[in-house]
Amino acid sequence: MNVFKALPFKLAAVGVAAALAAPWTGALAQQKFITIGTGGVTGVYYAAGGAICRLMNKDRARHGIRCSVESTGGSVFNINTIKAGELDFGVTQSDWQYHAVNGTKVFEKDGKHTDLRAVFSVHPEPFTVLARKEINATKFEDLKGKRFNVGNPGSGTRASMEELLGAMNWKLSDFSLASELKADEHGAALCDNKIDGFFYGVGHPSANIQDPITTCGARLVPLSGPAVDKLVAGAPFYAKVNIPGGIYAGHPNPTPTYGVLATFVSSAKVPDATVYEMVKAVFDNFDEFKKLHPAFIALDPKDMIKNGNSAPLHPGAVKYYKEKGWM
Ligand code: GLU
Repeated sequence: MNVFKALPFKLAAVGVAAALAAPWTGALAQQKFITIGTGGVTGVYYAAGGAICRLMNKDRARHGIRCSVESTGGSVFNINTIKAGELDFGVTQSDWQYHAVNGTKVFEKDGKHTDLRAVFSVHPEPFTVLARKEINATKFEDLKGKRFNVGNPGSGTRASMEELLGAMNWKLSDFSLASELKADEHGAALCDNKIDGFFYGVGHPSANIQDPITTCGARLVPLSGPAVDKLVAGAPFYAKVNIPGGIYAGHPNPTPTYGVLATFVSSAKVPDATVYEMVKAVFDNFDEFKKLHPAFIALDPKDMIKNGNSAPLHPGAVKYYKEKGWM
């Protein structure tokens, strides 16, 4: 084979390709891609991530960052995947942010996540128990011996469920079935009579809760008593809260429970400029942001930069908060 004869042609071809590609390579070199890990598509994390990306992408021509969301298994998965460098941002429950920073509970074997950085907290996530109306449950104890969805491994829901079971001295075997369906599947399973109830840490109102309530008359079950008192007294990240009355059909009164905050986190390895642009997109357009999901309606920037953030704030976020005079 005459390599030398072929060479000039090849070089010429490469030259043409390079010339054709030149205008694009410039633009691609500037374009940066970031991904936010969320939760199930019917949850609020996915909507929150979508809202943030939407605001950020509006200004893409200026900052050159393209933001996209990924549906994931939830809080614990997001923290672990940020640690592995495979996600830039993620939404996580404040209890699991705390445990990641301290290297406790599900994070004990991996030790403290020293690179985890808080960006801001978002909506409250009351722990929500929903049951088939036929069960006539008036308290969580009524679900003992029933078919109950404890959540998928990797979700904050599942990890927090284990904490509650521990405080109640229950085991998974105290349910006749402890299923591990994802949040996107538990509503249909409930209405199809495959499970009697499920547990979900989620913002309200949520389509995920509304659907089984309207489809098969599912009922919210109060979550209170000595085990909840003990959990709330023993941890800075839990608080007693109500799921407000009047937001779901047939539930005019508040449902007492306890809960955490949804928080937005990143890694110390993500550049300051990227995080700065993200918080700028959210807080420069805050009225628009709040309108992107009904669970955001009561958000206040002063609380968001303070509450629920166990990890140090990312320096890119601090820069913006200081410019605003919030710190
Ligand atoms: N808090 C849930 C979890 O991490 C996710 C809630 C949502 O997707 O809105 O398991």
